[in-house]
Amino acid sequence: MKNEQFIRNDQFNFIKRQVLQLVNGHATVNDQQVIGAIESLSIEKTVDLFAGVTAAQRNLLNQIVNVVDKETAEQYLVEIEAYIIPFKELSEQKLQKLFPKVKKMKLPKESLNYNRMSFFSYDDFGTKKRYMVVPTRKGMIGLTGTFDETKTKQICAICNRLTPVCMFMTKTKGNIAGTYTKKGNYICRDTEDCNHHLLSLEKVYDFVDNVK
Ligand SMILES: [Zn+2]
Repeated sequence: MKNEQFIRNDQFNFIKRQVLQLVNGHATVNDQQVIGAIESLSIEKTVDLFAGVTAAQRNLLNQIVNVVDKETAEQYLVEIEAYIIPFKELSEQKLQKLFPKVKKMKLPKESLNYNRMSFFSYDDFGTKKRYMVVPTRKGMIGLTGTFDETKTKQICAICNRLTPVCMFMTKTKGNIAGTYTKKGNYICRDTEDCNHHLLSLEKVYDFVDNVK
């Protein structure tokens, strides 16, 4: 029987961070009581991610306490990865609908891992444009903007890490006809890396609210 997928990519990233903290705890703490406290906290934080879990899902999440080192961490992550809800696969037709003003939308040539995606992003280096398919509270939308690479690292608005970023700028119609407002945000240059580290979908929603 196929696994019932219930973990979003951002939730998987969050759990992964808990897992890494557990590995780190086991490597640096000797006190069994402290380890016990770290373990309970990991379970609590992980289960809290979900509005409601079934007994089987809770059972699966609870297995995080089996993580003691890199190897057990890897085993646990492989196991829960099977429960990830993949990003809805995109076709060129679907992209075209999301970006009606663009003449011909193309999918990137490299294969995409839809399991580890909260948003889709494609850079056209020729025109310095970034095309994003991002979730909002009202559903998926297409977002186009220009990107300018910066020389310094900055905090990414989506994953909140200090990373090599680009300034993503959108142009929206102003209140007066014929006027435009430009809105920008620093986001990771490497969007795959960003997708692998963002911890909350709320941050994606906020990012969209800021640039739209
Ligand atoms: Zn990022």
